[in-house]
Amino acid sequence: MEEKKEISEHEKYYAVRANYTSIYQDAYRNKVYINEKERSVIIEVDDIYEYYTNDDWLPQGNNEESSDEENDEEESEKSDFVFTDQDIADSNNDYLYHDVFHLSHKYSKNLHECKINPFASLMVTYPVGEGLLEFCSSDFTEEIKSLVGYGMLMKAFGKGKVDDDKVKNYSHEERFDFMTDTFMFADDLMKKTVYTSVFPPMFIKTNERSTAIYASCITELQKEMLRRLEFVFDEEFYPDELLKFTAHERFALYAHIYDIPMHSRRTEDFEITIRMDKTALECSRLPMDVIIQRLQSHKSTKKKSPLEKALGLEAGKVQMFYHVPRFMAVSYEISALHEMLELEFSKMLEYGIKLHKCKNCGRYFIIKGNYNAEYCDRIREGNSQTCQQIAAQRKYEEKLHSDQAVALFRKYYKRYHARSKVGTIKPDKFRKWNYQACEKRDICQRGEIALDEFEEWLEGSFKNREKK
Ligand SMILES: [Zn+2]
Repeated sequence: MEEKKEISEHEKYYAVRANYTSIYQDAYRNKVYINEKERSVIIEVDDIYEYYTNDDWLPQGNNEESSDEENDEEESEKSDFVFTDQDIADSNNDYLYHDVFHLSHKYSKNLHECKINPFASLMVTYPVGEGLLEFCSSDFTEEIKSLVGYGMLMKAFGKGKVDDDKVKNYSHEERFDFMTDTFMFADDLMKKTVYTSVFPPMFIKTNERSTAIYASCITELQKEMLRRLEFVFDEEFYPDELLKFTAHERFALYAHIYDIPMHSRRTEDFEITIRMDKTALECSRLPMDVIIQRLQSHKSTKKKSPLEKALGLEAGKVQMFYHVPRFMAVSYEISALHEMLELEFSKMLEYGIKLHKCKNCGRYFIIKGNYNAEYCDRIREGNSQTCQQIAAQRKYEEKLHSDQAVALFRKYYKRYHARSKVGTIKPDKFRKWNYQACEKRDICQRGEIALDEFEEWLEGSFKNREKK
């Protein structure tokens, strides 16, 4: 057996963020917009690997045979997907996925749909923090087990031998094949969370090693992020020492302790666009009524303006640019899952986002408005109610139970008090009983004994005396 070397936190940090010869982590080029005012993330999901599945692209002639095959595939695949493009179209581009993720189409397009990745070409919108939390609180155990199992099987069949070449730049055709394969055998794991779908890996080789690498990356990233969230955002984590720090100061301490970098780098993309969305509107400071007024007041002309004459432009060019407003848009180009997690984490620090641990399911959730919120509003797997609803129901039942305990106590207090007045119960015995009954009532209110049991005890308190 090979001896495993102990690796440091620092090495681990970089190991899960690397590209390997058998698996790349930066297959997609996603555009990530951050709306600071609304504290939301908008991801424009890459669809570069989808073009080949579009029938329009295929050479005419041998179309029929292959499209038949694809249709069969589509049927069986579709039943697995949690949503289809038609679902999104039917919901007027307002499709809610996993309770927090808004899915919509970038632009209205014809639905050819036999996508290899259902998220490709969609806009995914959600509050800053929710993507990271969804990834961190998901249980990948089963999916990882089956992925690694598949890798071992491939090894047994002698497929996908590892070569020690350096990370190569493959052609688009080759990358397309790799991506299609990746989604064929690893799609359970990818479909588990939005981030594993939107930032998928690309398996160059499918074998024991590559599947084990991906499994480790997912597990280690999740472990590190959860540990980080606890250290940086959890107010119950060593409060005596850590509450006086701000979140970013806590992160500085964390990064120092675990020897990870205090900086992360990303590529910012600046563009001038005619696409008008909330983020672009805010960024460009053009009021909506001005935009409408400009769009509606455009008239075509054949007469050149002085500027058009001077620079030899066609007539109406300058006016055209005025009447069709342009917007500024700033986005980040994010490929790998770990880059997205770092970006979102840094935005959580910037925006001062607060987390609480749900007292019902134990998962972190973002505080909105009510700072004392103890329960999340997520529906836990296997339940039909949110943790908040479950807690409210439980509180109601506790209250009911508690009210009933008080009512029982009162009923018997009145009865025995009356008897003590007429002398069938001695006053000191009554006093002693009252003391015990109060104790029992409190225990019952806390739900530690049942109402029946309490009532039985009350009823039997003075049986012997009654006979007198
Ligand atoms: Zn919860």
